[in-house]
Amino acid sequence: MKKTCILQDTETPEKTTDLLAAAVRMYGRDGFESHVVLVNAPPATVTGRCHHVIQMTESLAAEDDPRALAEILEILHQTYGFDSILIPATTLGKMIAPRLAWRLKTGLATGVTDITVRDGQLEITRPAGLGTMLETILQEGQGPVIMTIRINAFEYTQKQAVPTRISPYSRPVTVRSTLTRLGVEQNIEPRDIRDFEVLVAGGGGAIRCFPALEPLADALNGAVAASRKLVDLGIAKRNIQVGQSGKTVTPKVYLALGIHGSMQHLAGLRGAASILAVNTSSHAPICRVSDLVVQGDACEFIEKLMGKLMHHPHKNT
Ligand SMILES: Cc1cc2nc3c(=O)[nH]c(=O)nc-3n(C[C@H](O)[C@H](O)[C@H](O)COP(=O)(O)OP(=O)(O)OC[C@H]3O[C@@H](n4cnc5c(N)ncnc54)[C@H](O)[C@@H]3O)c2cc1C
Repeated sequence: MKKTCILQDTETPEKTTDLLAAAVRMYGRDGFESHVVLVNAPPATVTGRCHHVIQMTESLAAEDDPRALAEILEILHQTYGFDSILIPATTLGKMIAPRLAWRLKTGLATGVTDITVRDGQLEITRPAGLGTMLETILQEGQGPVIMTIRINAFEYTQKQAVPTRISPYSRPVTVRSTLTRLGVEQNIEPRDIRDFEVLVAGGGGAIRCFPALEPLADALNGAVAASRKLVDLGIAKRNIQVGQSGKTVTPKVYLALGIHGSMQHLAGLRGAASILAVNTSSHAPICRVSDLVVQGDACEFIEKLMGKLMHHPHKNT
């Protein structure tokens, strides 16, 4: 029986099951024992889904301290002898994984989007280059396989609940982080854009009316997202960037306002159920992948749509 270790990021607890789905791809549904590591989080999201929860509290390590968490995963590997260690490809996960790979002297596959097993050989797929290609990594040699798994790349479906054992983790870490805590501007941090069914996204063509996206998103029960252009310009926060170097989103409706549709942006949009583009140019690549295109000025569109929603407030969901 293979053993897989899964780290839960407190920022994306509901996505921990995506990593279980990745393990199912590697070993089959009944071919592995799952050990989920939780830091300062209740086990509710994984109870009945994994075999073992290893739970630790802040007195041992902060949930956002990559050095301490890498050390804890190393210690756990020494105890349990994992065949694989799966870490979500979140900001924190991307900081933990290389530290852990270095500690365990093993390889690392980052941003994994697909896994297949062919003739007993593990084939790990991840976007490469500028996101236009996919590369396949073959596992060789000994040692645990360490991967960061791209959020929303795998979907977990459960056949039946499994009994979950919960153990506290009690061994103190030796690494004491000197890093500043990653917790960002508490109380004003918005919900994760990946949780929304409606995203109102702005790009280079919506710079001048970007603040107007927020009330529109509110009126549609959605959230604001952005292209990298607005992030690089300092107009939007990085945590709402969609795309290859941002987040992969799966909304029911993606409203792309003044977004060109570069391949790097579209890389984060493959799971969107429908795309509505507003663009002055009907030749912009976003128009080719959209279900509906409005040719025109994004700011004028927002203004008109807001006007309609204000007059029909009950029809806005
Ligand atoms: C390694 C790498 C990773 C990257 N990762 C990402 C990523 O994760 N996400 C991402 O978004 N980008 C990413 N990029 C950048 C990407 O290549 C593009 O530069 C970027 O997406 C362009 O943003 P944009 O479409 O908002 O802006 P622009 O390219 O400026 O496009 C603006 C669009 O708005 C239209 N427009 C202009 N005025 C108006 C108006 N008044 N009303 C309506 N439409 C109008 C234009 O016709 C145009 O189509 C990455 C690039 C690299 C090299």
